Amino acid sequence: MIDYSSLQPKLSSGEITVAQTVTCFLETIAKDNANINAFLEVYADEAMQQAQVVDAKIANGTQGKLAGMVISIKDNICYKNHKVSAASKMLENFESLYTATALQRLLDEDVIVIGRVNCDEFAMGSSNENSAFGPVKNPLNTDYVTGGSSGGSVASVAAHMCHASIGSDTGGSIRQPASYTNLVAIKPTYGLVSRFGLIAFASSFDQIGPICHTAQDAALLLDIMAGIDANDGTSIDKTETISVNKSSGKKKIAIIKEAINNPGLDPEVKLAFDKQIEQLKKDGHEIKEVSLPLLDYLVPTYYILTTAEASSNLARYDGIHYGYRSEKAQSIDETYVMSRSEAFGPEVKRRILLGTFVLSSGFYDAYYSKAQKVRRLITEQTHKLLTENDFIFGPTTASAAFKLGEKASDPIQLYLEDIFTVQANLTGIPAISIPGGTKNNKLPFGFQLMAANHKETELLTFAAEISA
Ligand code: GLN
Repeated sequence: MIDYSSLQPKLSSGEITVAQTVTCFLETIAKDNANINAFLEVYADEAMQQAQVVDAKIANGTQGKLAGMVISIKDNICYKNHKVSAASKMLENFESLYTATALQRLLDEDVIVIGRVNCDEFAMGSSNENSAFGPVKNPLNTDYVTGGSSGGSVASVAAHMCHASIGSDTGGSIRQPASYTNLVAIKPTYGLVSRFGLIAFASSFDQIGPICHTAQDAALLLDIMAGIDANDGTSIDKTETISVNKSSGKKKIAIIKEAINNPGLDPEVKLAFDKQIEQLKKDGHEIKEVSLPLLDYLVPTYYILTTAEASSNLARYDGIHYGYRSEKAQSIDETYVMSRSEAFGPEVKRRILLGTFVLSSGFYDAYYSKAQKVRRLITEQTHKLLTENDFIFGPTTASAAFKLGEKASDPIQLYLEDIFTVQANLTGIPAISIPGGTKNNKLPFGFQLMAANHKETELLTFAAEISA
C-alpha cells in the first residue's frame, strides 16, 4: 500500500523527495498503463517540474498541507489549460477554461496532478466499459472490470500510479469501483464539495469525492475540498474540520434487512458481512435490524430522476457552441442531430432518450413527478433511521467485480449494480465504502457506512477503526 499519510513524515523531513515519489509513480505508469488503460493523459513533465517546486518549498518550510501528495483526476473535472473530455468523443480534445473549485483548493495545498484518468462516458456506467477511449481493466485481475464510472481513478490508485484520485459520485461512481479494487472512497454530504468545474451529469445528485488507500488520506483530501463556494449555489459550508479522530465510542448501527437478505447478494459477501456484524457486536456496538420497504424502488427512482436531469444537462452539446461538430451536416437541424448522433455513445443516448421521455408531457406525472415523490419518501425514511442510529451499514455492492463484457449487453444488470449505493445520492447523505474482504477468486468487495448529513468525521473515524 502506498498511502500518503504514512509517507508524509518522510517527505517533510526530506528523507524522501517529492521528485523521487513522482518518478516512481511515472515509472509504474510507463510500465503498466498501456495494459490497464487508466490514464488518458499523463502530465509527466509538468508533474516533475511541480515536484521540484514543492521540494523547494519543503526545504524552506513553506509547503502546503498536501505537499508530496500525487493524485489523478477523473476526466470530468476541469483543470485550466488541460484537456477534459468526460471520456466522450463529444468533448475529445476540449480544453478547460478554468479549474474546478475542489481541485483548485487541492492545488493551493501543493497537491501534484499526475494525469487525467479514464471513466465511463459522462460518468454514466458501472463498469467503465462505456468510455469512448476503451475500458479500464482491474489491476487486481485484468480479466475483470474496475467498476464505474470512476474506473480509471480506482485503477490508478490500486495499481500504485498515484496516492489518490478525485472522482465524482452521482449514484455510486466512486464507492462501487473502490469496493472492486480494495480502496476507500467517501461521497460527501450533497453540497459539501463544490460542483463548479465538474462536468454535470445529474446536478441534484453529483458530488466530487476522494478515492484513497486509507480513511486518513480521504479525510485530508475531503477537508481541503469541502466548503462553500460562490460559484456553486448548492454548496454548503463545513461544520467542523473533517478528520479521523481517535476513538468514536460505542455506536448504534442499523442494518437494512431488505438489503442483507436480498436474493442478489453474493453468499461470500453475505458471509463476510455477517462475520463483520458479529465482530461489531463483540466490540460492544449495538446492531439493529431495520426495514426499508422502499429498497426496490431506489434504482428505478434514481434512473428516472438522473436521466431526466442528464437529458437537460447534455442539451448543451449541440455541435454549435463547443465540442464535436459533424462534418456531414448541411443545415442547422442536421448539425444538431448529426453531431449528437455521431459523438455520443450508446449508453449516453439511451439516457438522453429515457430522460426526455420521462419529462415529456403526458408522461411527466406518471414518471418524473412520481419519482420526485418517492425520492421524498426515501429521504424521510432514511433521515428517520439516522436520527435513531449513528450509521446504516451494509455491503457496498451485491458482489465483487465481474468479467469484462459479462454485463455489457444488459443495461438493467448494470443498473442493478447501484442497488446499495444510490440511497445516499437520492437522500444527499454522506457514505463511505471500505474494504470488506475478498472472495475465493481473490477479488475484493466493500462495505458501506452511511450517516446523517455532515457526519463525515464520524464516518471516517469509524471506518478507520473497523478497518484497523
Ligand atoms: N452507476 C451509476 C450510473 O450509471 C452511477 C454513476 C455515477 O455515480 N456517476 O448512473
